[in-house]
Amino acid sequence: MATAEIITVGTELLLGQLVDTNTTFIAKALADAGIDVHRETSVGDNTARIATAIREAIDRADCVIVAGGLGPTVDDLTREAAAEATKRPLELHEHSLERIKGMFARLGRPMAENNRRQALMPAGAVVLDNDFGTAPGFIVEEGRRAVIAVPGVPREMKAMISDQVVPWLLAKYDVSATIVTRVLNTIGLGESDLDSRIADLFHAGVNPSIAVLAHFGQVDVKLTAKAANREAAIAMLDQLEPLVRERLPDCIYAVDGGPIEHVVGDLLRARAWTLATAESCTGGLIASMLTSVAGASDYYLGGVVSYANEAKLDFLDVAPDLIEQHGAVSEEVATAMAVGVKAHLRSTCAIAVTGIAGPGGGSEEKPVGLVYVALTGPDPQAEVRKLMLPGDREMIQRRAAIAALSMLWKTARA
Ligand code: ATP
Ligand code: MG
Repeated sequence: MATAEIITVGTELLLGQLVDTNTTFIAKALADAGIDVHRETSVGDNTARIATAIREAIDRADCVIVAGGLGPTVDDLTREAAAEATKRPLELHEHSLERIKGMFARLGRPMAENNRRQALMPAGAVVLDNDFGTAPGFIVEEGRRAVIAVPGVPREMKAMISDQVVPWLLAKYDVSATIVTRVLNTIGLGESDLDSRIADLFHAGVNPSIAVLAHFGQVDVKLTAKAANREAAIAMLDQLEPLVRERLPDCIYAVDGGPIEHVVGDLLRARAWTLATAESCTGGLIASMLTSVAGASDYYLGGVVSYANEAKLDFLDVAPDLIEQHGAVSEEVATAMAVGVKAHLRSTCAIAVTGIAGPGGGSEEKPVGLVYVALTGPDPQAEVRKLMLPGDREMIQRRAAIAALSMLWKTARA
């Protein structure tokens, strides 16, 4: 048995300017882990009040999760408050500073001096790396008790809670139940579309539970079962999984499989197929995703970023007439791009993408979000899909890339 309290930090919460969804998420995560939440509190951006809230909570519960206030600005005070509440000095954590510097370097931006503050930790804290932002989290242990701080940005908070905090808590506290999770990786459906298809299963029972997690344009369905032992939890998941699968025909590409580029890569390797890419509106994103997987050279030969019409003509032998007649964003040109790159690289298959990522460049006939994805596999007949993708430029590019990889997945597994 372990007890917890949750504290969310931010004056916005107290002014009614922000709906506190972080508490909901954390409460659910802890409940799923078999940890009893006894109290939830929100505090403004004030060091003394945050410190008092932490001290009071940790005097009542085994652990307290504090979310928010880990940013770089003067109103981000959770580090100071946690140090005060646990009577530890703040120390610079070199590893975190290097990570923060690295993150700015990757973005090609100089690191502001105040970002250094984010590498300050109460002495002796366990540091929680943040893969989605600059603010690391931390855990300060006081014997059986623990103060755990995570960022307020929901995406960063969620990843840190699910991937690091919950496993840490399960290792530290003897929670009588065993939790087993199973992630169904899906493609082809948006988060809300997918959610509505399985929403009734979700409400039908708390245990086993279903969570829909969207990240980078892909959606995972996470099944979690809590039972007296592992076998019983697995049996519960085995019962639930087919119900979910029934609702999501042709969408689940892997179980605990990670991103689509990994799964597609494994399929290509298994079939000894090679792949080439021709990208217009995705600007090399597909190539980048494919090559983010170690060992991609086993199947990925390379590709062309044919952004301008000249590049489509010169590098891919797309016929000028085709572009004149149908426009660069068309089924015909997408197909010609795929056929062209396949011929040049003599690959088993090729994918090509052409579309309008916006925000400018759209017309009534060809609006922003219109994307054609073409695939030519071992079968000489090319397949083209017309997509109308929602979102901003980055999301449209991301979704187009994933759509292309999903087409390839469907062909390669068939
Ligand atoms: P940052 O680096 O952005 O300053 P932080 O860890 O200091 O991160 P906050 O400043 O508390 O976090 O919050 C950052 C943003 O995250 C808020 O503006 C808000 O959009 C969101 N957020 C914070 N707390 C919550 C909450 N309890 N529920 C929902 N969203 C939240
Ligand atoms: Mg902040």
